[in-house]
Formats: sequence, C-alpha cells, structure tokens
Amino acid sequence: MQDNRLICQKSGVKRRIAVLGSTGSIGVSTLSVAAFLKDRFEVVALSADSNIKTLASQTSLYKAKVISVRDELLAKRIRSLVPPKTIVLFGADGLNEIVSRGDVDIVVFAISGSSCLMPLIKAIKNRKRVALANKESLVSAGSIVMKLAKENNVDIIPIDSEHSAIFQCLEGRVEFLNKIYLTATGGPLLGIPKNKFDRLHPKFILKHPKWKMGKKISVDSATMMNKGLEIIEARWLFDVDENRIDVLVHPEAIVHSMVELTDRTIFAELSAPDMCIPIQYALTYPDRFSNMCEVLNFSKIKSLSFEEPDFKKFPCLGLARQALKKGGTYPAVLNAADEEAVKGYLEGRIRFSRISVVIERVLEKHKDRNNIPSIVDIIEAESWAREETVKLCYR
Ligand code: NDP
Ligand code: MG
Repeated sequence: MQDNRLICQKSGVKRRIAVLGSTGSIGVSTLSVAAFLKDRFEVVALSADSNIKTLASQTSLYKAKVISVRDELLAKRIRSLVPPKTIVLFGADGLNEIVSRGDVDIVVFAISGSSCLMPLIKAIKNRKRVALANKESLVSAGSIVMKLAKENNVDIIPIDSEHSAIFQCLEGRVEFLNKIYLTATGGPLLGIPKNKFDRLHPKFILKHPKWKMGKKISVDSATMMNKGLEIIEARWLFDVDENRIDVLVHPEAIVHSMVELTDRTIFAELSAPDMCIPIQYALTYPDRFSNMCEVLNFSKIKSLSFEEPDFKKFPCLGLARQALKKGGTYPAVLNAADEEAVKGYLEGRIRFSRISVVIERVLEKHKDRNNIPSIVDIIEAESWAREETVKLCYR
C-alpha cells in the first residue's frame, strides 16, 4: 500500500486531523491518542450530532479551527460556547466542507450509522487519508467506496479492531491470503440461553464484557449482527470472497483476528482489548510509536479459546452472510433495517428477539433491481428498508 500524500511522521511534520463523531466512544479515544502524540498531530476539525456540550469543551481543549453539528439551531447554540474564531458549520454540508479542507490530512470516521457515507466519498475524492471506524458505510456501499479509493490512490486504514488486525497481518503478504479468521468475543449473551434474552434489561444487553462502545454497536454485539457487518466490511476492505471469511468466537478478546496464507502459515495480531491501539495505528501508519496501553501478560492470561459461532442462537450472523451472497442492495437493506430495528429496541418498541425477525422480514420483501447498484440505488434501498422496518416495529 502506498502513502504518497503524507509526509513521514519521522520528519517531525504534524499530521492534521479531522474527527467526525468526536463526542462518541471512538471519537473520544481518538482525541486521547492525538493528545498523547501531540507533537505529531494537530486536531483541526471536530463534529458531533447533538452533544454540543462535549463538542464545545473538546473544541477549546484541542483548539479545533472548525466544528460541525447536526443542524442550524445547534450551530447557533454552540456558537457562544466556543472561542470566537471557531468556524461553526452544520448538516451534511458542514461535514462535506470539513473533509474538503486543504489543512486536513487525515479524516477519522467515527460517526455511527450509514449517514457518513457521503462525507466518506467526498473525503476520498479529495484524496484524504481515511481512518475508518464506521463500518456501516462499507456494508452499504463497499464496492463503490473501495473502487473510488483505488481510483484516487487513497488509503483506507481500518480502525475496527478485527480489520486493523487483518490489515496488519497482511502487510506485505496480501497476494498470499488464503483465509481470514474474524474473531468475536460473543458479546454479553454468549453464555445465556436464547429463551432468556427477552427477559434481560437493556442495561445488560448494552454492557459488553470486553469493550466500552456506543449503544448501536453494543446492541449489534449482543445480536452478533456486529460480526455479520464485519464479515461484509472485511469482504470489501480486503477484496476477499465471503466463503473465505470464517468467524471464530474468542471470548478473551486478545487475538483480534488472524489470516491464513497459502502455505497454511497463520498470522495473528494480539493486544489488550483497547481501541486506542488500532486508532493510533490508523493515524500513524506506517510508523509505530510507543503508547500507554496495557502490555499483555501471557502468564496471567493462561489460555486462549476459540469456538464456532451458534447461528441458531444468533440469526443475524446468517442474515448478514445471506445478504452479502445476494449482493446488490441487499447489504444496504440489511444495514438500514438493523439500524432501525436497534433503534426500535432501544426505544422500547420491540423485544430483543424481534430484531433479527424484523430484519429477516425486510430482507425477504426486498426486490433488488440492480446487481451493480449506484449510490442512488443504495440510498433508495436504504430509505425503503427504513420505512419497512419502522412499520414492523410499530405493529
Ligand atoms: P457512539 O454512538 O459512541 O458515537 C457516535 C458519534 O457519531 C457521536 O459523536 C455522535 O454525536 C455522532 N453521530 C451520531 N449520529 C450522527 C449523525 N447522524 N450525523 C453526524 N454525527 C452523528 O459510536 P461509537 O464511537 O461506538 O461507534 C462509531 C462507529 O465506529 C460505528 O460505526 C461503530 O460501528 C464503529 N466502531 C466502534 C467501536 C467501538 O469500540 N466503539 C469499535 C469498532 C468500530 P453525538 O454525541 O452528538 O450523538
Ligand atoms: Mg470490531
């Protein structure tokens, strides 16, 4: 992989970053990485949806020049909370403006959901390095995004821990890739029988045993849709067929994924479960720098276990595989239906076990019109899927 546009970190020139979704779990961790490596990074731009209090304090702390929020009203409200020289933007135009700025080298996509697809496309067209945490945009439009990245000679460096692991294991070995082992912790429901799922309080569902994450991805981890989305993410990031991506449940969350090469050698990436590690690598790639993250102590870990996932207990995993096999707009429909079904669950409109049922119904009803979808096809399919899902959630 080439990185022609960024001056090597060792030269001492600071990389200028924009963090979209800076108030969320990945966004906050990204800023802590940037603060730790403050001699190497300058935070130029930040964005949030509606959490203006946190965004305002981040703006002052990191001296961001430009920020963006969801709408004009929020932009007016945050105006008085930030230094007077700060440029305050809003909406889709605000994000597009940030990713087009000449003083931004790297854009970190830490927004949840598929709404960051358009700014992602814009960033690629503007030849920014992309540090990608958001997986939904690749699930919906992976073929388009990766094609554009190739055409524009843009690096997409994954932040998702599994994909960062695969990316690192494949460095210099891409041509020998035989198979990917995508690891999964199994989420909070791994040891719980399926018939008890609906009796669990959402607080339990949201409490992941290993990672502290935003609500949407936490529910996705409980249904294991997260792993399903990650299969699709891996398919596009590494240009590998679905049948060469295996999922392995690995509750210790130490091996973040593995690759098997043609000669049956397997490379794995191991580290403490701390998102600052893949975030830092996405920012510093291809360089590596020291950090404050936990050092693994193998004598304390003692054993690492792996098992096959249970597709009956976690139907979302199978739904994601099917959508990927069908191709076209099916993954976009899967993703949009999942976003709305998770919202329905978090708002108390559907039971936990209905999430997969609702997504399955929407996928069954979907009629793909074009096997090589355009962005317009994808946006239309997503919006149709959202409407259908909402109808099912209100029934
Ligand atoms: P959070 O929910 O914690 O944060 C989401 C961020 O995006 C917030 O800053 C939020 O702003 C902003 N946001 C939400 N919706 C919109 C919108 N429609 N337009 C603009 N901004 C919006 O999510 P996470 O940090 O957990 O996850 C972010 C992404 O990273 C997801 O795609 C997830 O799948 C992926 N990821 C996360 C991991 C993790 O450990 N958390 C690990 C691997 C991948 P506000 O605060 O104002 O609501
Ligand atoms: Mg992951």
